[in-house]
Amino acid sequence: MTHQKKTIALPTMTPGTSRGIVVHHFGKRGARPKAYLQAAIHANELPGAMALHYLMPMLVEADKKGLIKGEIIVVPTVNPIGLSQLMGHNHLGRYDFLGRDNFNRNWLDLSEGVSERVGKQLGKHAQDNVELIRKAARAELDAMKPLNELQTLRVEVMKLSADADIVLDLHCDQDGVLHLFASNRDLHGPAQMLAADLGAEATLYSDPYPDALTFAGVHGGLFARLADKYPQANIPPACHSTTVEYRGQHNVSHPLGEADGTNLYRHLVRRGVIAGRAGKLPKLKYEPTPIGGMDVGYSPTTGILVYHHAKGTWVKKGDVICDVIDPSDPRGAKARTPVKARTDGLFYSGKQNGKLVWPGAVVFAIAGTKLLAHRKGKNGLDD
Ligand SMILES: [Zn+2]
Repeated sequence: MTHQKKTIALPTMTPGTSRGIVVHHFGKRGARPKAYLQAAIHANELPGAMALHYLMPMLVEADKKGLIKGEIIVVPTVNPIGLSQLMGHNHLGRYDFLGRDNFNRNWLDLSEGVSERVGKQLGKHAQDNVELIRKAARAELDAMKPLNELQTLRVEVMKLSADADIVLDLHCDQDGVLHLFASNRDLHGPAQMLAADLGAEATLYSDPYPDALTFAGVHGGLFARLADKYPQANIPPACHSTTVEYRGQHNVSHPLGEADGTNLYRHLVRRGVIAGRAGKLPKLKYEPTPIGGMDVGYSPTTGILVYHHAKGTWVKKGDVICDVIDPSDPRGAKARTPVKARTDGLFYSGKQNGKLVWPGAVVFAIAGTKLLAHRKGKNGLDD
């Protein structure tokens, strides 16, 4: 049996309070492939934690049978700071109360530091390069002196994840269908395989990798940035990192959790982390589409948000996706301001779980195949 549970203590921020991150470890340390899975960095997004609730007993069972070939780290709720943010009988877990940071931004781009440490040693041999980069990334993290709780969380979590072959950061949307955010660099193998195994309705990719320093973005981005900086060296995309958006915040149920946990397990088998037969790869539901083809709808005004379509519906350019209704206007249909699709594609998210919106509020996202002029320069997630 290799399963171990430990808690990483975070520095105390106020007298009488302390928090820690619970980490589960399976398999022999240093065994490959290494998979790192975490949920709820946006602490009010719990469907991923629900998937891990079902995955963990399967891993315990696999461990008992000696089936874990690689190394697996599972962090079911990675953000105890966000989990503690209760206000007015609500839980608010997307932004840090202290500094207002989005918890899934400002992760550590280690590429500069790694470059300074080992850039000159990177050569033609891919595996040697991967090992050099991973060691240097760890040395960078070890050398950091985080002061507060959130900085410490970022450094300590990345010590667990930075050398993984597979990173799955489990999130959810406010209100949407299952979709992935991936990088173009590993689209044509691992990311499509993951999308098929998890049953993703859409996969949106950054090209070549996300600009925003999201958790998944900095992991794949480390190798991608170094490969760009040292084109003569042979630097493979050694970390396949993906943001998994498990539908909407309210989509927490036993059947969904069980299906999602089972699908994650099957994917770990398919990737060789766990011994067994993954079976035939399910059919991909929708070819990956570029982030630059993602139409984002913004509310032009304030009012009541009402949709015309269910999330997961195919829509066409010009279709009215939703109305924003002025509740004090007595003119019936004339009180409605329609917001229209500017592309053909899959209406995969409503981006809101409340019913009151305001000017500039994001009210939908559509995954389209065509790059859109009004999305030019957008290469990351939209908030
Ligand atoms: Zn999230």
